[in-house]
Amino acid sequence: MLGIYSFQKFSTLDFPGRLAAIVWFSGCNMRCKYCYNKDVVFGRKRIEEEEFLEFLKKRVGLLDGVSFTGGCPTMYSNLINFATKIKDLGFDIKLDTNGINYDVIQKMVKNKLVDYIALDFKAPKEKFYEITKNNHYEKFEKTLDFLISSNIEFEVRTTVHTDLLDENDINEIINILIHKNYKGVYYIQNFFENDKETIGNLSPQKKTLDISKINKKIPIEFRNF
Ligand code: SF4
Repeated sequence: MLGIYSFQKFSTLDFPGRLAAIVWFSGCNMRCKYCYNKDVVFGRKRIEEEEFLEFLKKRVGLLDGVSFTGGCPTMYSNLINFATKIKDLGFDIKLDTNGINYDVIQKMVKNKLVDYIALDFKAPKEKFYEITKNNHYEKFEKTLDFLISSNIEFEVRTTVHTDLLDENDINEIINILIHKNYKGVYYIQNFFENDKETIGNLSPQKKTLDISKINKKIPIEFRNF
């Protein structure tokens, strides 16, 4: 069963270079302290797959793509089947992922069912569990290595709440990316302050990341700073 929680009819911002619909999948294999998508993470399916596909059929020629986000879309093994139907309609697909479900991601790439991936690098290994409540850093790393070795267009990104990550942690991630020969842009995203309660009940940041202390040896873009 595919757990579609909701969808947005179009976005100009989410999928680089494409006008895209966004599909949110319920459930997640992480519990990131800074996550404010609690409704989706702890939610259940609310939309039938067919309902979304019927909507999409009416958008052929009007939209370029579909973004899969969540929650964690790759928790559903039949995502492959869903993606195939979307590709058959002629749409590009973007996948937002925390990288834990390597098998699904690998199948999507190998079967050309995804055109762009945004991979979260949540934290260095020693802080990975503390921030995500998931202790499978090695699975994330396997996905990262696979994507670097593939031809898929993808980005690596980290969300920073300075109660959780500091400049040393980000520089450690950058060193890992350099060591792995990552050639893309590394996106460092400042935690988006809003009224929603986070999974870890975090308070607003007391300070923002000092970007002057960040190693710029690879291309970096700062978002929401
Ligand atoms: S921020 Fe973490 S808990 Fe929230 S949806 Fe993403 S991976 Fe899941």
